[in-house]
Amino acid sequence: MKKDWRRVSLRMALCYPSEYRVGMSGLTIPLLYWLFNSHPLVACERVFHRVGQEAPKSLESGQSLRRFDVVAFTLQYEEDYVNVVSALKQAKIPPRRRHREGGEYPLIIAGGPCAAENPLPLSEFVDAFVIGEVEPIRDELVDALINRSLEELASVKGVYVPGLDRERISRVYVKRLDDAPFPTSQLIVKAPHGHKLAPVFDASFKVEVSRGCPRSCRFCLIKRVGAPFRLRSLEKLVELIDEGVELTRVGAVSLIGAAVGDYPKLLDLIEYVVSKGLRLTIPSIRADAITEELAKLLSKGGERVLTIAPETGSEALREALGKDISDEELWTALKAAKEAGFHGVKMYFMVGVPGETSADVDAIVELARKAAQLFGLRESVRISVAPLVPKPHTPLENYNPPPLHELRSRMDQLRKALQADRRVVVELYDPRRALIQSILSRADSSVADVIEEVVERGGGLGAWRAALRRRGLSLELALEKWSGGDRPWGFIKP
Ligand code: SF4
Repeated sequence: MKKDWRRVSLRMALCYPSEYRVGMSGLTIPLLYWLFNSHPLVACERVFHRVGQEAPKSLESGQSLRRFDVVAFTLQYEEDYVNVVSALKQAKIPPRRRHREGGEYPLIIAGGPCAAENPLPLSEFVDAFVIGEVEPIRDELVDALINRSLEELASVKGVYVPGLDRERISRVYVKRLDDAPFPTSQLIVKAPHGHKLAPVFDASFKVEVSRGCPRSCRFCLIKRVGAPFRLRSLEKLVELIDEGVELTRVGAVSLIGAAVGDYPKLLDLIEYVVSKGLRLTIPSIRADAITEELAKLLSKGGERVLTIAPETGSEALREALGKDISDEELWTALKAAKEAGFHGVKMYFMVGVPGETSADVDAIVELARKAAQLFGLRESVRISVAPLVPKPHTPLENYNPPPLHELRSRMDQLRKALQADRRVVVELYDPRRALIQSILSRADSSVADVIEEVVERGGGLGAWRAALRRRGLSLELALEKWSGGDRPWGFIKP
């Protein structure tokens, strides 16, 4: 969609601070792009940028960020903060908001889950943050942006303007999902599988089933900043799928939501998709939702790999984390998937969680081996393991992650135990990156200097190490310095 700039009052660059294929794999960019472009006074264009890349240009008209009235970032991961600052620098926009005062620069705004968890690490760079969901405030937000008024922006519910006195900021959210607008004419990336632009999942129409989650895992940010749990009605979903499939002409549907497994009419919904001859994707589903019947339907819909998140290998640790899934439920899900014709399973785990011992790490190995025995094929079991990142607003917000050497030793334990097993693929998230995320999730605005220096040094782990070392800090010391003890994010009411 390319709107005529002469006919609108607000030119907005919607910037995803990471790879195109990552941004276009999720629902956020298609949803925001459509939401802003459906406002008659707004032309919204997409921009993707990572540190180390050249000056970002919009995809639709090839314009530099400087030519827009507003640059709107969506913050999905803390690691992307350096990409935000890099995008501004590369576009010759002074990254610090105080250096933009009185200049002819775009307003810089940001939203997304990381803005709602703690906007402070980027508060030196961003003029205004949207805390929560933008649909209920879109029109007011657009008016304030057209008027270029920070005071007006600050008066919009859910908007935090760092330059002005801050009070308590209440998160804004859609009350009834059925009433929220939803794009049926979505942008679909049709790059062939394996192409560098191809999305993580094959081309599909994405339909958002729910927001939030009724469960209470103690580490989970989405539970807190996505509350309350809301569902679209089956009738509404059917209507959206019919329209979306007709408009996009794709043969697959993705069911999006953190708690798709908790959708009360999930079987009816999947049956409907399958009955229309469409393929089905569910990026991840709770293991205890997988019954024989559901597994068969998913298999009929073309799913061949089950994706679940047991989080830990041991049931006791899982329970301590508030993840109420038993070993038996996990095993039942795996068996149902195998019997229904699935080829394998992908499982997400965490290490470095409170109370974890070496035996708990062994329990991950055991579960992976058990699954490998069941599916039997080479590379049929994929386990993805990442250190826990404590998140503001969660019961674990004050938890201190183990030091780097301990996290490494847990990862080594896993790698060594499974490296000879050809049926299991082990993907280990670099613990240094997890510690950087832990720093950024709980830091206050004083971390801005470090972020800027990391960008100047070209991004990456080496740049982080050098920027911290220059301040006499290791990763662990930085984590201690920005441990969030006084809850700097406390003014955000999630
Ligand atoms: S089930 Fe998933 S989305 Fe729900 S609280 Fe637990 S981790 Fe979060």
